[in-house]
Amino acid sequence: TDGFEVTLVRRDFPILAEKVNGKNLIWLDNAATTHKPQSVIDRISYFYAHENSNVHRGAHTLAARSTDAYEGARKKVAQFLNASSPQEIVFVRGTTEGINLVAHSWGRYHLQKDDEIVITWLEHHANMVPWQILCRETGANLRVVPVDETGQVRLDEYARILSPKAKLVALTHVSNALGTVTPVAEMAFMAHRHGAKVLVDGAQAVPHLKVDVQALDCDFYVFSGHKVFGPTGIGALYAKPEILDAMHPYQSGGNMIADVTLERSLYQPAPQRFEAGTGNIADAVGLGAALDYVMAIGMETIDRYEHRLLAYGMEMLRTINGLRLIGTAKEKASVLSFVIDGFTTEEIGQALSQEGIAVRAGHHCAQPILRRFGLESTVRPSLALYNTIDEIDAMVAVLKKLTLSQRTTRWS
Ligand code: PMP
Repeated sequence: TDGFEVTLVRRDFPILAEKVNGKNLIWLDNAATTHKPQSVIDRISYFYAHENSNVHRGAHTLAARSTDAYEGARKKVAQFLNASSPQEIVFVRGTTEGINLVAHSWGRYHLQKDDEIVITWLEHHANMVPWQILCRETGANLRVVPVDETGQVRLDEYARILSPKAKLVALTHVSNALGTVTPVAEMAFMAHRHGAKVLVDGAQAVPHLKVDVQALDCDFYVFSGHKVFGPTGIGALYAKPEILDAMHPYQSGGNMIADVTLERSLYQPAPQRFEAGTGNIADAVGLGAALDYVMAIGMETIDRYEHRLLAYGMEMLRTINGLRLIGTAKEKASVLSFVIDGFTTEEIGQALSQEGIAVRAGHHCAQPILRRFGLESTVRPSLALYNTIDEIDAMVAVLKKLTLSQRTTRWS
């Protein structure tokens, strides 16, 4: 179907052949991090074997190679997000650093007392704590858009919260705790009518769906490489060029200046202005290889395949007695959050782990949204393009056995 062959895809990921506890590894913790195809692993080795240098193009041959590789990766990120130019892409450590960069370099200069930052209840702590701090520093107020029973953002409440006081709307594209896909384009349109800028946390969107920053018309978009089959320690911030050009540096030092005297410094234009010091060159190149990998398959193809898996997973989980799915929005990607009556999420996570099945059990760095559903913790299997129907069946079989064993104990 769609020419998508999951068996072939799985062969590209060497770690999927690992055994854990004598069992085949079943990786359903993709929302925490994803595995790397051989092409990414090879690309990073190739860099260190043949191209390693700091990035100063003119200096010598290896410098030219590493600069070409690094700037080539920037181009791939731009293409992946459909940004209009690589100059709109800043390499950062990940989503967390991208958001902190915007809070420091844009937020501190654009927010004043009684202004408002609008977030949603769905946010990861990374898209919440920096704004809380910024509010304390500037006297601005944080407004939070509630969600409905399915875990979808309430647009009616959002419309009521928005006003000319709103200077920034910061929202997740896909919730890491529930899988909700938020209506980003519509929310950005509404924000812009009030003159607010829009930052999108794309950490959980990029591995699952086609992102087009121009179609979304967001002002900032951030993501982490490690969630999209690339290395840890690298990610990207997209910003509209007119905003990025006017922004102040985040960190300062080498590589980000055009000229320095003892009294003053002139900064480089964007994106170099935001990349002080020696960056994570090899991993940026590795990220480029990861994006090549998913773009070759096609994000729409990945999205379609994963949606079939997700629908199947929801259907099967619903057959388990006492299981409650958390997050049932119509628009949803990858994440199957649940709790089961009579079991702690830790017990469930342990039972799965014993069978080689990796899921997350915890608060997923998104405590407010779990508390919104009266919970401190859920079990969270999360899917990616290399997962299969058989793996979902294996997970469901473990859960069935666990819940049945409890019932026999209770009856005896
Ligand atoms: N936002 C969301 C929605 C996430 O899922 C994550 C990672 N769990 C982050 C932000 C933070 O990403 P990182 O830890 O890679 O900076």
